Amino acid sequence: MFNTLYAKISAIFLLLILLLGSVLLFISLNSSLNYVCEASQKLNYNTAAQFARRCRPLLTDSIHYSGLKKDVMDFREMNPNAEVYMLNSDGTVIASSIPKDELQVSRIDMQPVLRFIDEDSYANLPIFGDDPQVKGRRKIFSAAKVTIGNTKIAYIYVTLASARYDLASEGILSSYILRSGSIAIIITLFFTALIGLFLFFILTKRIQRVTVAVKELTHGNYHKRIVALPGKDEVAQLATAFNSMAATIEKNIKEMKQNDQMRRDFTANISHDLRSPLTSIQGCLETIQIKNKDLNASKKDELIDVSLKNVMHLSQLVSHLFELSKLDAKQIQPQKESFSLTELVQDVVLKFQPLAEERGIHLEADLSVRVPHVWGDIGMIERGLSNLIDNALKYSPEKGTVSIQLSKQTDSVLVRVCDNGPGISEEDLPHIFNRFYTVDKSRTKGRQGSGLGLAIAQKIAAAHGSKIEVESRRNEGTTFSFQLTTVT
Ligand code: ADP
Repeated sequence: MFNTLYAKISAIFLLLILLLGSVLLFISLNSSLNYVCEASQKLNYNTAAQFARRCRPLLTDSIHYSGLKKDVMDFREMNPNAEVYMLNSDGTVIASSIPKDELQVSRIDMQPVLRFIDEDSYANLPIFGDDPQVKGRRKIFSAAKVTIGNTKIAYIYVTLASARYDLASEGILSSYILRSGSIAIIITLFFTALIGLFLFFILTKRIQRVTVAVKELTHGNYHKRIVALPGKDEVAQLATAFNSMAATIEKNIKEMKQNDQMRRDFTANISHDLRSPLTSIQGCLETIQIKNKDLNASKKDELIDVSLKNVMHLSQLVSHLFELSKLDAKQIQPQKESFSLTELVQDVVLKFQPLAEERGIHLEADLSVRVPHVWGDIGMIERGLSNLIDNALKYSPEKGTVSIQLSKQTDSVLVRVCDNGPGISEEDLPHIFNRFYTVDKSRTKGRQGSGLGLAIAQKIAAAHGSKIEVESRRNEGTTFSFQLTTVT
């Protein structure tokens, strides 16, 4: 039961309320009693002095006990709850209104008596003094100094009905003010406790919603989100943080699944890509070996040509893989220098011209605009640019056009490789830079590579602080672009 946060907070809260209630009740009871004592002592402030004045004639040389007895009787008739004592200067009781053998204290502490007799004592009431009747009991009193004969100092000490004991023994709790005050305190604390428990319930309920969501997440429900909690407090912030954490986890898991799928596709692709040229080379070599004498020179050349093409394809595939793994391991660091992009584009276009002609594609470079030199690793940029042009030529239809454009930006040069090929669907666009990602063959007229070209180009751009952007429309064409910082 005490395992829940709500139960723990509630128990602590109720304990505090109980403690607070007891302290409040104690303080209010105590101050009420003190107030009654103070009022009573003030009312009877001069009682001892009046009695002293009255019995002064009886204290001329020595004490006239019989006369005193009568005065005491009269006094007690008027003050039934008071007891009168006569003390000598060290506090010893020398006469009293009750028989001496009923007194438990024969000598009382004089300090409170002297304080009372002091001039400004009225402002400091209540003052409690010893009650000779009961040892250890303290009562409010009135006191006055008297002189017996001419020299002997004595004190009249009148103990008064003290609220602290007498009222309490009569049942102070029956006092209307105290009772209603205590009831008010108890009701207030009761409602405070109720409201507090209700608020804690609401607060912990919100935390519970977060806990439930976390539990669901740990059980694999990555779609779980907490519906916006009201307010901006820590719990609401926790819920928001949970939601963004869950979103990140969901995204990462989705990406991991995609990567896993891509890796599997890649293994299938790569084994197919490796197997086809190897099978073809094996076939050619076996034909040459078996039918060597029956083959004429042109047939032999044809078989050797096929084998060579396949070997080249294999070597390109292997070099792609090798390059990507080096880029991944950051083994290749760009050796940056200032160079002319115009010249580089001219060279690359010249390199691809035969391939473009072979495929019946018009390859052009618009170099009419003068652009400044840029910073970069020429070899790496050539590689990235070649991958983009190679793709454009690979996926463009016969009689298509591939053009490379350069334009000056504020502090960079923009390189664009445009084609009017089949374009890339919106569905594929976000993934084409992922390694091993290849668009479905049916959408690329059966042309398919290893899915590494764009991943390599993007890594190269990133190593130059750039990013390859792509714009594409189905059946209209695709434009890849990136920027390189100019030399200042
Ligand atoms: P691949 O070796 O398959 O060409 P890439 O990483 O170079 O691998 O390209 C990834 C995918 O992007 C390709 O499978 C292709 O479908 C698509 N793609 C890349 N460039 C173009 C382009 N210019 N036109 C149409 N599709 C393209």
